[in-house]
Amino acid sequence: MGDSFTIGRYRLDVVPEFGGPRMLPQDMFPALTAERFAAILPRLPPESFDPPSGKLVTSVHSWLVRGPDGLVMLVDTGSGNGKTRSKFPIFNNLNTDWLQRLAALGVQPEQVTHVVNTHLHHDHVGWNTRMEGGAWVPTFRNARHLMPRLEAEGGPDLFPVWNYECFGDSVAPILVAGLAELVDPPHEILPGLRLLPAPGHSPGMMVLEVSDGQGGGALLAGDPMHHALQLFAPELNTRFCQAPDQAAATRRALLDRCADEGFALGAIHFFAPRLLRVRRDGAAYAFR
Ligand SMILES: [Zn+2]
Repeated sequence: MGDSFTIGRYRLDVVPEFGGPRMLPQDMFPALTAERFAAILPRLPPESFDPPSGKLVTSVHSWLVRGPDGLVMLVDTGSGNGKTRSKFPIFNNLNTDWLQRLAALGVQPEQVTHVVNTHLHHDHVGWNTRMEGGAWVPTFRNARHLMPRLEAEGGPDLFPVWNYECFGDSVAPILVAGLAELVDPPHEILPGLRLLPAPGHSPGMMVLEVSDGQGGGALLAGDPMHHALQLFAPELNTRFCQAPDQAAATRRALLDRCADEGFALGAIHFFAPRLLRVRRDGAAYAFR
């Protein structure tokens, strides 16, 4: 699916790993009642819900950001292939064509200059490594991998049990190879590209601000939101949000900024739309 956008001097592309019906609304958002969902549903893009299964359509993808001076950046790296995820069957031992999809956009792994892992959940770090000769080796061997210092240094103990395994197979090999750059946000990567703190869903989550040079741009985020329905119910957390109150406050702050300053929000699990443009609507938000 050719999802391509231009933000100032940057070209943004979606690199999909998975897209389709995955979870029932109430399974993803425990506080969402059937009545509430029924009221929100008519306002959603039709592609974001699958009536036959009753499931929300979600995505796992990366953002590819290309810009001046040979910048080739990936924001989050999906789930990866062949990873054991014993507590999370839908992510266990995957075999997807994500690398071919990256190649179809004209990018070979060795050309990637920067990787941003917005947070160290397993579905955001997976392609950091691939299996070669019986070991997990860096996929992007020429890239600086920017990770939140809090999470990289805190390690598995900062996370729920379903996230433990990714540290050994997808984070540690990057640290050992000397390819990690641990970040304390806010942090300017290059002029026009900044990492900002967005904690809550995980303790040290970051968003990438891509400036359009005119006061707006895009905020490429990990998981401050998981589905467009949260526009209309911004207080709703998923059951994967580690600090619910903080996650909701971060979500509102990001949506406020999008509404007031003209930023678009791109999150890693949005299937439709890929980039949200929003306005305020009473105590919540709506599509702009
Ligand atoms: Zn995620």
